[in-house]
Amino acid sequence: MSIIGLNMQHFIVIGNPIHHSKSPEIHAAFARDLDLCIRYQKQLCPINQEGFYAVVSAFFAGGGTGANVTLPFKEMAYEICRQEGNLSQDAFVAKAVNTLAIKNGKLYGDNTDGRGLVADLLAHGICLQNKSVAILGAGGAARGAILPLIQAGAKISLFNRTLTKAQTLADDFHQFSSIQSHTLDALSHSHFDLVINATSATTTGQNLDLRNCQSAAAYDMMYGKPSAFLAHFAQQDSITLDGYGMLVRQAALSFHLWTNKMPSVDCLLA
Ligand code: NDP
Repeated sequence: MSIIGLNMQHFIVIGNPIHHSKSPEIHAAFARDLDLCIRYQKQLCPINQEGFYAVVSAFFAGGGTGANVTLPFKEMAYEICRQEGNLSQDAFVAKAVNTLAIKNGKLYGDNTDGRGLVADLLAHGICLQNKSVAILGAGGAARGAILPLIQAGAKISLFNRTLTKAQTLADDFHQFSSIQSHTLDALSHSHFDLVINATSATTTGQNLDLRNCQSAAAYDMMYGKPSAFLAHFAQQDSITLDGYGMLVRQAALSFHLWTNKMPSVDCLLA
């Protein structure tokens, strides 16, 4: 093996499906920025716990440095770290892991999604301190965003199609902040500083009922597709942002965890 080969660090992103993932390109750009030699590959995994466990074990036993975890494995990654390793506070409260590493000889799980979101909002000049923030959706992405938003000073209200899921989510965060939960109908005639779409409605091409919902800023976690959600707020001259910046910034935080070096995101977000 060449000297370059010996110094190379290996990374994967585990998901199913995985062909659409932009993570290899993003991490390759970070490595170029920092002059590091890495290999970052997509890893398709069967959708069951045994398959996921086998992929993670084989990767780290083979000397892998770090793995990203995407749909539908974030909760499985959380369970493995809870039972056999350690979790960051963000991963612990989110009950989901998007970044795996080995720390002190043990598997370590973090969740960088919410910190990536907050970093992207702040980078666009969207202040969160004491601001009213509506989160639409109560799935994994909403769960991962809540603690970093609270820590940035946001006052959160949750809106979800299935009210019981929003209530459960609000209860899980009660020690950090009091969060009101509502059905999506309650959105009409409401006004916020920021509305975050953490539903998968845009992904599946469905429209949310946003009649008379007003906000100074709107963020759709989805990216790469036209968003009726963002179009609604653009008509009000609100600031509108899609989730590509969140994707890049959560990746940068993973890269930092693995290499102790913070890459610049400028080349990807310019
Ligand atoms: P989940 O499947 O965990 O949750 C989906 C949520 O969307 C649920 O709250 C569900 O409501 C709601 N929902 C689905 N369809 C509709 C609809 N037609 N109308 C209203 N609500 C609906 O998905 P995730 O939380 O993992 O992902 C959500 C979005 O965030 C996706 O678009 C994903 O691509 C994006 N994302 C972006 C990231 C980034 O880096 N930019 C990172 C992670 C996610 P109910 O509870 O009633 O079923």
